Amino acid sequence: MSKKIRVRFAPSPTGFMHIGNIRIALMNYVFAHQKSGTCVLRVEDTDLERNVAEASVSLIKMLRWLSLNYDEGPVKGGKYGPYIQSERTSIYKKYLDEMIQNQLVYRCFCTREELEKKREEQVAAGLPPRYDRTCLYLSDDKIKEKIEAGLSFIWRFKINQESIIEIETMERGVLKFDMKNFSDFAVTRSDGSVTFLFSNFVDDHSMKISHVIRGEDHLSNTAMQAALYVACACPLPKFWHLPMLCGADGKKLSKRDFGFGIQDLKDAGFLPMAILNYVAILGTSFEQEIQSLGELVSNFNFENISSSGAIKFDMEKLRWINHKWIERVAISKLVELVKPFLNDQIDESLTLSDKKLEFILEKVRTDLKTLVDIGPVLCFYFKRPIVDIQEIEEKFGVDKTKFVLKIIKENICLINKTEQFLDISKKQAKDYGLKLNVFFGTIRYLLTGRFNGISIHDLFEILPDEELEARLNIKNSI
Ligand code: GLU
Repeated sequence: MSKKIRVRFAPSPTGFMHIGNIRIALMNYVFAHQKSGTCVLRVEDTDLERNVAEASVSLIKMLRWLSLNYDEGPVKGGKYGPYIQSERTSIYKKYLDEMIQNQLVYRCFCTREELEKKREEQVAAGLPPRYDRTCLYLSDDKIKEKIEAGLSFIWRFKINQESIIEIETMERGVLKFDMKNFSDFAVTRSDGSVTFLFSNFVDDHSMKISHVIRGEDHLSNTAMQAALYVACACPLPKFWHLPMLCGADGKKLSKRDFGFGIQDLKDAGFLPMAILNYVAILGTSFEQEIQSLGELVSNFNFENISSSGAIKFDMEKLRWINHKWIERVAISKLVELVKPFLNDQIDESLTLSDKKLEFILEKVRTDLKTLVDIGPVLCFYFKRPIVDIQEIEEKFGVDKTKFVLKIIKENICLINKTEQFLDISKKQAKDYGLKLNVFFGTIRYLLTGRFNGISIHDLFEILPDEELEARLNIKNSI
């Protein structure tokens, strides 16, 4: 029987979830769900200097907002927990003790300054910077002496530089690393805490992770971690390194690029399903581009992964997908998503019932590119527009304006009978030789302050009769 599929998303709580992270979280989710596997969330918070308070909570909330639910992880728990690295110290200690016993690691007393000096000398001599193994060759007496003198040390992993390490990847097949190109690396820090390379390996192994799906920036870490697996006689997982995202200029995306941060996108009115949909189709080709999470789980082809180099982040495409999702999502969900944006922009909207908002939204949803657009699109409903006859005259000409206003005035008594009002008015407009866009454009302008936009029928349905009457009842001399 094949090994059970277990994947993990392992973010560091640095306070910034970006589109690259989410792509990795999504691919883990889709892979696990398609293969009836398990998706684990692990918070990698061992680097105290980079941790941001509350970031773990906010990343869990963000995953929830995106509906990227996990099977095991913080809060939820599971058989292989704890799922927060800072709570796994005793597990790391056990692995480290075993490695110490098997002489796979050694104490290194070199100071930061000494290491830096050696590095500079190597670089100046045109050599690749490698730890020169000064401490590997210390005698037992010397080590004892240094410990007694209270010198701080780290544990360094002794790489077998004679070895070639092979890893199996989903994107590049088997990769071989000549370990003579790698330096003995630290598995602990001088304060005793463990490094990313070590804790990440221990966790993947002890959590029985079968596939490590992560960013290409971890490729060189993979080689070093694979050396740990081999040294500890642990079976290696399979890897998939996803390409990095870059901007239109080809540079790696950064915090400064709008759209990179998920919170920015959320605040700018992007739908969670649109974000997921966009990151899923990045760098792949789908006949049908708009897909829900469930559809992605069914349709994503993991047999066909290639390493495509960096992928360009295209804000316009994301906007287009967002627009498609605003048209597609269930109306009740759209109400829930759009309400905070509407309430933020228009105080009067606070009293609007969900039912009414649903009714109106059905008619205007195609005008929204992002949820922020709801304010400008719907403000006509809450506030009478300030209109000026001169603007109509400038657009359609003085004579035509006069006729349109005359028709409206004559038929305004029929305003509560929409069809009748429109039929009679249209007929009269024809008699005056007016094009329908002149007639409808004027009505739309009087009702909304804009010549283009929502259909007249929809406007008549959305606005109460007395409001229609008040807005169309232009007091001017015709
Ligand atoms: N904590 C690492 C990061 O946020 C991820 C490591 C991994 O996926 O293996 O980059």
